[in-house]
Amino acid sequence: MALTPMMQQYFEIKEKYRDTILFYRLGDFYEMFFEDAELASKELELVLTGRDCGLEDRAPMCGIPYHSARNYIGRLVTKGYKVAICEQVEDPKLAKGIVRRDVIRVITPGTFLDETFVSEERNNYIMGVFKEGGNYGLSFCDISTGEFYSTIIKAEAEMLDAEIGKFSPKEAVASSDELAEYIYSRYSLLTNARRIPDESELLLEGRFKSVSGGINSLIASSCSILLGYLEETQKTALTNLTHLEVYSSSDSMAMDPNTKRNLELTENIVDKGKIGSLLWVLDDTATAMGGRNLRRWVEQPLISRELIDRRLEAVEALYGSLDMLEDLREALKGVYDIERIVSKVALKSVNPKELLTLKNSLGRLPAVKEVLKSLDYGELSRLNRKMDTLSDIWDLLDSSISEDAPMTSKDGGIIKNGYSAEVDELRDIRLNGKRWIAELEAKEREFTGIRSLKIGFNKVFGYYIEISRANFSSIPEGRYIRKQTLSNAERYITEELKVMEDKILGAEEKLSELEYGLFTGIRDRIEGEIERLKSTSRCIADLDCYQCLAKVARDNGYVKPLFSIDGKVNITEGRHPVVEKMMEKGAFVSNDLVMDSSSERFLIITGPNMSGKSTFMRQSALIVLMAQIGSFVPAKKASLSICDRIFTRIGASDDLAGGKSTFMVEMSEVSEILKNATSRSLIILDEVGRGTSTYDGLSIAWAVIEYILKHIRGSKSLFATHYHELVALEGELEGIRNYSVLVREVGTTIAFLRKIVPGGADESYGIEVAKLAGIPREILTRAKDILKDLEKKGKKPARAQKVKEDPLQIGFVDIGREALFERIKTLDVMSMTPIEAMNALYELNNDAKELN
Ligand code: ADP
Ligand code: MG
Repeated sequence: MALTPMMQQYFEIKEKYRDTILFYRLGDFYEMFFEDAELASKELELVLTGRDCGLEDRAPMCGIPYHSARNYIGRLVTKGYKVAICEQVEDPKLAKGIVRRDVIRVITPGTFLDETFVSEERNNYIMGVFKEGGNYGLSFCDISTGEFYSTIIKAEAEMLDAEIGKFSPKEAVASSDELAEYIYSRYSLLTNARRIPDESELLLEGRFKSVSGGINSLIASSCSILLGYLEETQKTALTNLTHLEVYSSSDSMAMDPNTKRNLELTENIVDKGKIGSLLWVLDDTATAMGGRNLRRWVEQPLISRELIDRRLEAVEALYGSLDMLEDLREALKGVYDIERIVSKVALKSVNPKELLTLKNSLGRLPAVKEVLKSLDYGELSRLNRKMDTLSDIWDLLDSSISEDAPMTSKDGGIIKNGYSAEVDELRDIRLNGKRWIAELEAKEREFTGIRSLKIGFNKVFGYYIEISRANFSSIPEGRYIRKQTLSNAERYITEELKVMEDKILGAEEKLSELEYGLFTGIRDRIEGEIERLKSTSRCIADLDCYQCLAKVARDNGYVKPLFSIDGKVNITEGRHPVVEKMMEKGAFVSNDLVMDSSSERFLIITGPNMSGKSTFMRQSALIVLMAQIGSFVPAKKASLSICDRIFTRIGASDDLAGGKSTFMVEMSEVSEILKNATSRSLIILDEVGRGTSTYDGLSIAWAVIEYILKHIRGSKSLFATHYHELVALEGELEGIRNYSVLVREVGTTIAFLRKIVPGGADESYGIEVAKLAGIPREILTRAKDILKDLEKKGKKPARAQKVKEDPLQIGFVDIGREALFERIKTLDVMSMTPIEAMNALYELNNDAKELN
């Protein structure tokens, strides 16, 4: 048996696209065969059928209608598959034998452009990796915006993590099978292996219109491997990749993935949503470009004082002028995603409606520039000079694209009247034709006396005169030619109608063709201006971030941070930007932080669970980070020193994302920190050592502290622990300062005051916290006895810290009441036995009396 010709063609094509799901176009369907069909039917819940293929067994097959392909493709690609779209590439009327087909594009996770699936809020990067000797060459590209970055880093896993973490690519291309395997296993990222094109350096020459930074062989290799893959999949010239930005990985703060996650920079730990993240608080951008830019800023805080100051200055200028800030926001609100529309122009997938949107967005630019004019200094003046309002492109679009242009480019209705004499003329014919048809209908009605006679149109029969069965007797002999019989009507034509039909339909067809041609012409002219469009959209993105940070600073009472060069950090009344936002206004308790790089470089923060240690440490890291992205910070005053890296490690049992977190993981992460921190790093260690037994944990924590002080000189660390034994280290080791969170004892319970004060805590208050959590009284009493016993045998730490007077406005009685209220609220009365209920009531009653 032999394969049918169609199947032969299928196999020839599939052979070239083995790592994709091949969508093979057959009539109005895309069909998948064999393994592709089996896979797709499972992933997309499609019915698996079969088709004769010439072999004994039928070929497994499943298909989807061509017009709903978009949704299916989106679902497969977001699941990490690649889809190759195979179309007929010759006119079936002209084909000899089987119609020629070929793949016109391969859609992959890292090159996906469909806005229903790819959020406008973030970039969609694909990465090229090349490894040689002790180094990696890395390239990152977002074809939906035309950004292209390259860098070199040392071939160390930790460096690679940090760099990849800055971009979070969706797909990778590696220079060898081995490297691809490594990348895949480390990042579970769809990774393709491709050979580096020969003479890749030569290939790059002239590829980009501009390059910042120097290209060497590592850069060239990673770039060309990525470009090669993009061209292979997109099958177009990618004219939107105009600029190659070669950057140094040390231009921005490196953060390992854990740190980013722990600090909840762009997503919260619990459900990975944006709500509750730093970005959630900071993002008040008005445009999609600004939104993506801000996300990038948050993920890549700056190190250079000059660049940070430049941003801060711009934010300050806008912060200082509410009127202008509001005007600017207003002007920016009408600016749509120029960057992505422009990329669609380059990829030839833009539709007429999007060109209209582009025009309307460009129409806002003069208003934006107007505001900038009055804020003319520093960075804002630079942006003003750089920003081109692109009035020539606006003019072109305004004269050519109709105000109600459709989303499709092949069915006409695109071109504005007056732009092309030919279009106008054809439209005239069409209009007259329609009028003529209406007149004919009236005339025939009158002639025949049939009131219900009507002239209709369908695609198969064209124009027809329809007369219902009831009126058949009134039809004049010989006047009409019968065309089609329906159940209760007949359809007719006349010679006259036929002639007019040819004219009208001819005009219609010509018009669509003509309009399509004009549309692609306009598109190509815009393609020629891509560099200018991109440059302006970069300006908009930056400007939008500045106004956003100014607005957020005003709304939330942030201050401009200052930088010192003596390594000192002094934050007055600092707040946690996110926790504060989640609470009632004014409920958050602010705290100071004073550190330097010598005698106060290691703060040990003790205090019971839930007292606010973690919040304080995270807020300190966030303030530093916000300052380095160019944002104002939540504090009354902040003088900071620039740090090169922030590390955080959260003790195993505190690790909410949990699951895989074991003590082992905790320790290996601590060891990474110890290896990589420098004298300019900020290290946050939260309950390190908690994942093991008390003595183990305590000893490890102790040794880690000693190590950091000894080997990472100058670094700043915040170390929260419930091992209050560690307070004994102050005075023993140079650089350590004890701090603790104030707690108020209220009768037999405690109230959290959230105030960080010098000195260590003397107790863990574990039992009191347990009580707040509703542990039965019997257990609490017994635990107290055991504790007393243990303390008699052991030794209590020396330094003690008790609240002597009420340091805060909020009375502890209020807090105690609130805790009591909380307990009443959370009682699960329905599941209690009468005795349990009685006991609970008794306890509540006792505690309420104590509060009085
Ligand atoms: P710890 O690390 O000491 O166990 P957390 O920092 O996790 O405590 O804080 C516990 C809760 O206390 C937080 O979820 C927050 O709701 C509240 N909290 C912490 N710090 C403050 C503060 N400064 N002001 C108001 N509430 C706070
Ligand atoms: Mg904590």
